[in-house]
Amino acid sequence: TYDFTGQVALVTGAASGMGLATARAFAQAGAAVALADLDQKAAERAAQELTAAGHQAIGIGCDVADEDQAAAMVARTVEAFGRLDMAFNNAGIQVPPTDAADETAANFDRVNAVNLRGIWTCQKHELRQMRIQGSGAIVNCSSLGGLVGLPERAAYHASKHGVIGLTKSAAVEYAPKGIRVNAVCPGVIETPMVAGMLEGQAEIMKQQPIGRLGTAEEIAAAALWLCSPAASFVVGVALPVDGGFTTH
Ligand code: NAD
Repeated sequence: TYDFTGQVALVTGAASGMGLATARAFAQAGAAVALADLDQKAAERAAQELTAAGHQAIGIGCDVADEDQAAAMVARTVEAFGRLDMAFNNAGIQVPPTDAADETAANFDRVNAVNLRGIWTCQKHELRQMRIQGSGAIVNCSSLGGLVGLPERAAYHASKHGVIGLTKSAAVEYAPKGIRVNAVCPGVIETPMVAGMLEGQAEIMKQQPIGRLGTAEEIAAAALWLCSPAASFVVGVALPVDGGFTTH
């Protein structure tokens, strides 16, 4: 475990799944945490839980696809806690698996608006704060779908490959300025996002050599490590946390 006392963390998509697990882990490590989510009520409830447990936390309603809202989210975090040291840009959505020849432009635009543009907007406004401070660490949430291709996932995989591109570019640009940017690439993780999709997908499970789904806490552990001084020489990586899925 790490000691993030006196530091401020921002997590998007923090009302559910790996975002919620990561917000909790940051709080338990002593950070003040801003929990941002499209579902403002759920973000506020999650923040209240942390506050009741003696941590510093606020909930923020934010659609990360909207740049003005992303800017306001960072401003609100800084207003509440005075600075921004660590960010986990995690909010994302799935669209139904579709034959690449039949996927609709509407689905392509929707998934890329949230998963790609949404991480770009957050990263941009977090960097603006962090460059004032001259320090910070950002972790963007990609996917195994940012590293390999699975059938019927062209739009989603495009968004997640894109996340790695904007991560690497910002990483090399900002490393000299004391800010580290990295991406985490989860395998199949047991969260509400995949709960409805796992039936009949036993073959996907078999591709995780470890033989089970990952947990949200295992992604939180990777996000915290990438933000921590233990990863002080780690810049611009796309770290698979996938039970070996992308290894074969
Ligand atoms: P989840 O559905 O449990 O949680 C996602 C959260 O993001 C929800 O609370 C939702 O309200 C929020 N959100 C959705 N759109 C938003 C928007 N426009 N603005 C702000 N918040 C928004 O999902 P999860 O499984 O925890 O996934 C988190 C991230 O991990 C996503 O980026 C997802 O693509 C990625 N991922 C998930 C898996 C998996 O197997 N679960 C695998 C690889 C990558």
